[in-house]
Amino acid sequence: MSPGPSTHASAPQRALAQQIVEAARLLERRGLICLTSGNLSARRGDEWLITPSGVAADRLDPEMIVPITASGQAVGAWQPSSEWPLHRDLYAARAEIGAVVHTHPPCATALACLRRDIPPFHYMIARFGGDSVRCADYACFGSAALSAKVLSALAGRSACLMANHGMLVVGRDLDDALAQSLELEVLCEQYWRACTLGAPVLLSADDMAEVHARFARYGQPLAER
Ligand code: 13P
Ligand code: ZN
Repeated sequence: MSPGPSTHASAPQRALAQQIVEAARLLERRGLICLTSGNLSARRGDEWLITPSGVAADRLDPEMIVPITASGQAVGAWQPSSEWPLHRDLYAARAEIGAVVHTHPPCATALACLRRDIPPFHYMIARFGGDSVRCADYACFGSAALSAKVLSALAGRSACLMANHGMLVVGRDLDDALAQSLELEVLCEQYWRACTLGAPVLLSADDMAEVHARFARYGQPLAER
């Protein structure tokens, strides 16, 4: 039997679709995605690719990953994620974003149900660009209102919680967004555990300014990565 026409127009597009599937499977193995919760996308030039709606991570196949053209048209037979307008609005608003990862992990989602920002209880909060990780106000999944609320919570940041829903991370590429997603869920668990013992002592604005300065030269130069 000959395979039908591919959803993807080029080898690089197919490679990116494969990366998205592998990222979704990793997030599922690490407990950040359960069944059909969450969605992932990655940008390539003026197009981007997103996971299909309502397909469990362990059922994903690269052919199901939906290309979205520069004019906002979904290509192929699979319905894009119900959150595709949110992903579209993030790419349109912030040119530096190369990938978006939205998940409903246990600890981040529990905290998001309290509708509270995560304060600087740990220096690693600086990893997401500011002195807190904000919680976006509630709006229904897939709605235009959700885009506006998430964009506002993400101002100057690469991550936010989403009230009564989950969390969202943006990265320069898929690996970056994936790593930040894992990091944020770990921080949410640490914050939760600390809160069960008492009120965590928060770092001051000066402490956090020092961390931001150190992070600016932390790790390996970009060319070495
Ligand atoms: P999709 O399956 O349509 O991506 O929806 C999952 C989700 O997390 C909605 O916020
Ligand atoms: Zn969701």
